[in-house]
Amino acid sequence: MNEAIERVKVLIIGSGPAGYTAAIYAARAGMSPVLYTGGQPGGQLTITTDVENYPGYPDGIMGPEMMEDFRKQAERFGTQVRYGMVTAVDFSAQPHVITVDDQKTIHADTVIISTGASAKWLGLESETRLNGKGVSACAVCDGFFFRGQEVAIVGAGDTACEEAAYLANICSKVYMIVRRDEMRASQIMQKRVMNNPKIEILWNTETDEILGEDEVKGVRILNNKTGEKREISISGFFVAIGHQPNTAIFKDFIHMDQSGYIKTIPGSTRTNIEGVFACGDAQDNVYRQAVTAAGTGCMAALDAERFLAEQENH
Ligand SMILES: Cc1cc2nc3c(=O)[nH]c(=O)nc-3n(C[C@H](O)[C@H](O)[C@H](O)COP(=O)(O)OP(=O)(O)OC[C@H]3O[C@@H](n4cnc5c(N)ncnc54)[C@H](O)[C@@H]3O)c2cc1C
Repeated sequence: MNEAIERVKVLIIGSGPAGYTAAIYAARAGMSPVLYTGGQPGGQLTITTDVENYPGYPDGIMGPEMMEDFRKQAERFGTQVRYGMVTAVDFSAQPHVITVDDQKTIHADTVIISTGASAKWLGLESETRLNGKGVSACAVCDGFFFRGQEVAIVGAGDTACEEAAYLANICSKVYMIVRRDEMRASQIMQKRVMNNPKIEILWNTETDEILGEDEVKGVRILNNKTGEKREISISGFFVAIGHQPNTAIFKDFIHMDQSGYIKTIPGSTRTNIEGVFACGDAQDNVYRQAVTAAGTGCMAALDAERFLAEQENH
């Protein structure tokens, strides 16, 4: 006998700050949300240590602990938090059809996409080993830990330039490691880093190895024109070579930009599909912070609630 297909009012995909905040609001509004955690329950903050910039924690908090608090708060109001990965969606008709772990089918009146984004990494063993111990993909999050110290940043796009300038405000010196003899960044951003006396651009340079046992002590760089290798001492190593939004499963239905960030209707979390909302890093290539993800998570739940109310009134 076929198992009856489950019907839910609000299905939330992802368990980072955006998803859990959407769940808190949706649950308190009586919408009985079901949330699927995906492969990284708690999201990106579970791979970091201290979070010092989330309001409400004056002494800072460890990332995994903070995300436990988010989960408990969402569950307290009745969110069903389930372990599982959404593997396919069909947004071609109402209700929307969601497949979990290639097995279970759910029909949802509204869907909130909060699948986040993943930083791109160089792929070095030392980068993985020292991640969170001086290696970071977020200058705004972790720059403060290196105030007054020397750091390096890899990348040549607008984000890398912006993060280099941000670090230069806090750190004593910033080495910017650029693979070619030119940058991808816009002229205005290039000027900003080139005119900054605290930033030294290392052209035609690649990262050979990040140095240090338990924390970053330096970096060995390779000049890809001359073949010369040298070591510089730094205490922070930032990777700014881009992010990959986790949105591939939605691409047949949802409008996205070239990089895969979901396009939302300005001033809202609405997507091009009625009843499907997007929040957090999956639709934000600018701010990428826990507090902004939580803010848009709140917006998504309110947008879903209004959508459902409008449907009922028709
Ligand atoms: C190392 C590090 C340190 C950081 N430090 C800070 C900091 O100090 N302060 C700060 O404000 N920000 C920090 N950030 C950024 C912050 O973590 C992100 O901006 C925030 O987590 C984005 O929240 P989100 O909910 O949009 O997505 P994420 O946290 O990325 O969560 C995405 C969720 O979606 C789930 N998912 C993905 N695909 C699927 C699927 N198919 N089915 C079901 N679930 C799925 C994942 O399992 C995950 O639970 C840091 C980021 C990193 C990587």
